[in-house]
Amino acid sequence: MNQDYIIADPWSLIEEGFNPKRVESSESLFSIGNGASGQRANFEEHYSGDTFQGSYIAGVYYPDKTKVGWWKNGYPEYFAKVLNAPSWIGINVRINDEILDLHTCVSVSGFRRELNMKEGWLSRSFKAVLNNGVEVFVSSMRFLSLEIDELGAIRYKVTPLNSDATISFEPYLDASIKNKDSNWDDQFWDITNIHRNSERSFIEAQTMKTAFKTCTFMQSKCFLNEQPLNSISEPFETNTTISEKFTQSVEKGAVYEIQKFGGYTVERTHGTPLVKAANKVLDLLEFQDFESLLSSQQLAWTSIWNTADISIEGDIKAQQAIRFNVFQLNQTYLGTDPQLNIGPKGFTGEKYGGSTYWDTEAYCLPFYMATKEQSAARALLEYRYNHLEKAIENAEKLGFSNGAALYPMVTMNGEECHNEWEITFEEIHRNGAIAFAIFNYQRYTGDFSYTLKKGIEVLIAIARFWAQRFNYSTEKQSYVMLGVTGPNEYENNVNNNFYTNYLAKWCFEFTIETLNKIELEHPKKYQQVIEVTSISKDEIEQMHQISTNIYLPFSKEHNVYLQQDGFLDKALIPVAKLDAKERPINQKWSWDRILRSPYIKQADTLQTFYFFEDHFTPKQLQEHFDFYEPLTVHESSLSPCVHSIQAAKLGRMDQAYQFYLQTSRLDLDDYNQEVHEGLHITSMAGTWMSIVEGFGGMRVHNNTLSFTPQIPTQWDVYSFKVNFRGYVVKVNVTNLQTTFELEGNVALDIIVNERPLTINPKILVAV
Ligand code: BGC
Repeated sequence: MNQDYIIADPWSLIEEGFNPKRVESSESLFSIGNGASGQRANFEEHYSGDTFQGSYIAGVYYPDKTKVGWWKNGYPEYFAKVLNAPSWIGINVRINDEILDLHTCVSVSGFRRELNMKEGWLSRSFKAVLNNGVEVFVSSMRFLSLEIDELGAIRYKVTPLNSDATISFEPYLDASIKNKDSNWDDQFWDITNIHRNSERSFIEAQTMKTAFKTCTFMQSKCFLNEQPLNSISEPFETNTTISEKFTQSVEKGAVYEIQKFGGYTVERTHGTPLVKAANKVLDLLEFQDFESLLSSQQLAWTSIWNTADISIEGDIKAQQAIRFNVFQLNQTYLGTDPQLNIGPKGFTGEKYGGSTYWDTEAYCLPFYMATKEQSAARALLEYRYNHLEKAIENAEKLGFSNGAALYPMVTMNGEECHNEWEITFEEIHRNGAIAFAIFNYQRYTGDFSYTLKKGIEVLIAIARFWAQRFNYSTEKQSYVMLGVTGPNEYENNVNNNFYTNYLAKWCFEFTIETLNKIELEHPKKYQQVIEVTSISKDEIEQMHQISTNIYLPFSKEHNVYLQQDGFLDKALIPVAKLDAKERPINQKWSWDRILRSPYIKQADTLQTFYFFEDHFTPKQLQEHFDFYEPLTVHESSLSPCVHSIQAAKLGRMDQAYQFYLQTSRLDLDDYNQEVHEGLHITSMAGTWMSIVEGFGGMRVHNNTLSFTPQIPTQWDVYSFKVNFRGYVVKVNVTNLQTTFELEGNVALDIIVNERPLTINPKILVAV
């Protein structure tokens, strides 16, 4: 563990004491978001120490020109960056004309920061002595409203403690923003209009190249000892900022307060004119104030927690961690807009560009399926359907034809936009995860309508890609897939990655099975599918032929499928034998050494066993787990969760628990020493899976929900809820028993430890 300063609390993240070295880490950890936008927990007042200022708007990105040494055909033109947007949270505070700055003041004491996850707000308080001798007490609270998702609110209070003082608040909007990770240090924003209209200020800006139009706005009001002031402010403007200044003589012990409301309106939801839309949002403040917005915020979060909460007793750190993971996922994506998706860093940083990866389908979908209405998971599937044409174009750019689709590994709008070839771009396995998500959604929800109306076109296009991507090897007398990268990014450009070959084989089978089902049960629709996709019986037969003769590398000696051709040529020295100083290898070793090593970044062959558990026996799982896990360095945030689920399945609860802690506290304890860059949002869904699918053993077989509950010895009780086809089931697990409770009015048949059980509404059943 690398850091341990976040105070354990079941519902909050708490930091006490001011340490400038932790500012950037805390800015990530205490981030807030509401699905439409999000921001790092930057201070409202000026801070001249090291800080990473970040505000992000969902769906607003910039196509930063790719930076590579030697350009080759097929490289994506650009790497999409989630854009650091104009910021609306800033409030410069001057006390007797000295700026309040925690970096330069004489002392800071009693510093406390809290992210209250139950109610969805961030607060901070501290005392500071300024160079002019004035001591002040400051407290602030801020949230991004879930109810009005274009609006955020700040309440900022200053009390002079040892003398009267003249205090001024200067709320401002700042569009002089750059991305930290810009490839060419380009400007990303074009400011089109800065203006003020009585007490409201606006900055209209549009992104260069992509021309996303946004309006950032603010309106503020001041209070003295809770009484509203009718103070007139002095406005000020530069080329990139707009501010106003409220000044007040404040007696020692009195509370001077500013309430600032701000946010963004964007073209995606309004078209233009955006200032008009912003004014409409601000008009709502005639009926709403800080307190009433806060009450709605608390209610909105209560409703999210009602299904999404996981409670753990007896292990406060594990409790805090799972709530943190569930909270951050909900801050990032709420499942209401199929134009949006879940970036690996959400709204908390810039690395990975905030783009969509296979993480969504492979890791996030189960969380959204079980904790929200069905429409949320469906929105994630629709996102890919809406990108089908672009996926076909992506494949065409690489020389594929006949409607074959290669979905991007990294995308914002459907186009591939990564700037690494062998590693990321060759990870064509993402196509399989997108097909698997269609199956997974269907299996969990029982809803075939998505597959029927849209998903089948996606499946056909993906199967077509695989059909062209395999080639027949006369030497092996079977179909092989050359030059790919599997989920283990520490092997590039390999032949016959088992996971990719197996997944592609399954894609053929699932596509053919789905087509047969449609032909049988929806003949009219079948005709339409044939017309739209022009798929012929011959083509289907060819897919079938390939699927029955795909090469899967296997070692008789070890009785395991091999991660790829030649894997056994490596010196298979387990990770446990590596010197701790050599870890993480991605920071300590050359790329050349990593590629030659046997070390596995994250579940690869074992990812196959996660997706297709039912295709293998428990003994096979054990053999593969015992072969691959000791070689795995878990240097992707996505790794520990899959291993935790599999260790639990193998009854190795201690190991499962260790993996759980690693996945759930990855950011809180900063295992990879990179939390200052942002949080690992997509792997947070893996944490949820570790409890629900790992410890709870939840699966869906033949339209029936089943559980094999176990509990780590460190815990007294844990409970979670899942929404299964409209039935909300609460599962409570202790050392002695598991209880099931059902909301609603209709009984549900489930399976527990392989035995059938009927749960009746509102009657607790114990097993
Ligand atoms: C992982 C990928 C993942 C990406 C974004 C990488 O480190 O290896 O599997 O898609 O991060 O989370």
